[in-house]
Amino acid sequence: MKFSTGLEKSNTVDLDEMNPPDDKLHEACGVFGVCLNDGGRDAAPLVYYGLLALQHRGQESAGIAAVKDRNIEVRKGMGLAAEVFSPEAIAQLKGPAAVGHVRYSTAGSSSIENAQPFVSRFKLGSIAVAHNGTLTNADVVRELLEDAGIGFTASSDSEVIVNLIAKNYRKGLEKALTDTIKFIKGSYALAMLTDEALVGARDPNGIRPLCLGKLPPKAGGFPQGKSSPLAEPGGGWVLASESCAIDAVGGEFVRDIEPGEVIIIGGGEVFSFSFSEKTRRAVCSFEYVYFARPDSVIDSMDVYGSRVRAGEILGRESAAAADLVIGVPDSGIPAAIGYGKATGTAFGMGIVKSKYVARTFISPDQIKRERAVSVKHNVIKSEVRGKRVVLIDDSIVRGTTSKWLVTILKAAGAREVHIRVCSPPVRCPCYFGIDTPHRKDLISNGASIPELCKSLGADSLAFISVEGLLESLGATAEKSYCLGCFTGEYPIPVSGPAE
Ligand code: SF4
Repeated sequence: MKFSTGLEKSNTVDLDEMNPPDDKLHEACGVFGVCLNDGGRDAAPLVYYGLLALQHRGQESAGIAAVKDRNIEVRKGMGLAAEVFSPEAIAQLKGPAAVGHVRYSTAGSSSIENAQPFVSRFKLGSIAVAHNGTLTNADVVRELLEDAGIGFTASSDSEVIVNLIAKNYRKGLEKALTDTIKFIKGSYALAMLTDEALVGARDPNGIRPLCLGKLPPKAGGFPQGKSSPLAEPGGGWVLASESCAIDAVGGEFVRDIEPGEVIIIGGGEVFSFSFSEKTRRAVCSFEYVYFARPDSVIDSMDVYGSRVRAGEILGRESAAAADLVIGVPDSGIPAAIGYGKATGTAFGMGIVKSKYVARTFISPDQIKRERAVSVKHNVIKSEVRGKRVVLIDDSIVRGTTSKWLVTILKAAGAREVHIRVCSPPVRCPCYFGIDTPHRKDLISNGASIPELCKSLGADSLAFISVEGLLESLGATAEKSYCLGCFTGEYPIPVSGPAE
């Protein structure tokens, strides 16, 4: 989009250039589902609020499917949830159970065809599926279904799930789910809607998060027994990618869905079963580093606390002599607090991030990306002038942001800039639902720490160790994490482009 000032050519501003993505790995999706006990009420408004709380997990498209009288209706569109849904559009989605989805594309293009939930209507019923994750055997399953005469409307791997369940549905819901889920491989947190139930499922390694919440009939997580303004008269159940979205609808967190567990909610009852042998838990460690909201708790680990601890460990592992520690907003800030505590360095706000730079336009171009960081971040000059500054970031992917921040901190008068990073160097691609740049664009791939430090223009550079990250997450033999993008060792076999 061009905006002309009406003056000479050089005054023409390319708004698209100012609106590319930031220099981060991107989450694939967020899912949310509600099943109300009172069949006369509508679940879609609550799902909308849940999607607003999960918006950080995907900004390309949003959708809600609701079921009433065995009929599933769906509305979806490109953009943020607030852009896709007017109050009128939500009011058209009737019924006591609904699922919703916010998307950032990793498998399949960014287009309305790939927006979720996917709905299939067939002879025996209908089903809507909202999927967070990536299937590693999607091509095989798709070919098999196509050979059986089943057509596809989208390129997303998530559509194979809905078609596979529809194909197996004659065996009954439970068997159809088990057979489908046993067949697919990869990472998945699913919120699904059938004619009669809300269904959740999590892959056998629990790579992507999914949790269960309750909507109490009266008081709901509010002080002095007061009802939440959003409390549902009859109560109900919630499935969400993150617990912050359960809070957003006035619900109470009940528990995480276990790896390899299916949960079926209908008629006020909750029924659950395990579909896999006991497997090694491998929750995505990047959820804690960057993706998840700090007010969420995932698999009994509070995200904010894990970030503060990572900063403390980083301070213990590689303290720099400095006058001030600052965090790159937003996720670097809890770690900067932890680093300050561990090293005795004063914590301050040195960088301000504009929250209003839109994130919907996707551009792969490096020059545009560099322009974007200059629009996004600015320095509080009086805070950093004349000081030796430690700059804490959650991760370094392409290095664009770090390089720019060092430049503007020094231009603002910082005497030294020491970068400390709360995750190990990102050197490998993710195959489980996270958008990773090509290996060649990962600044840490193939470069030594001194080389990296030089290319970023910093006075020193250090990353938390893999052991340090695991310590910040309270890892044990039973509570293990995926570290694939740091170590190249993945919890399940992967194949695919590793360029
Ligand atoms: S490879 Fe990295 S981003 Fe992907 S699931 Fe594992 S830890 Fe998360």
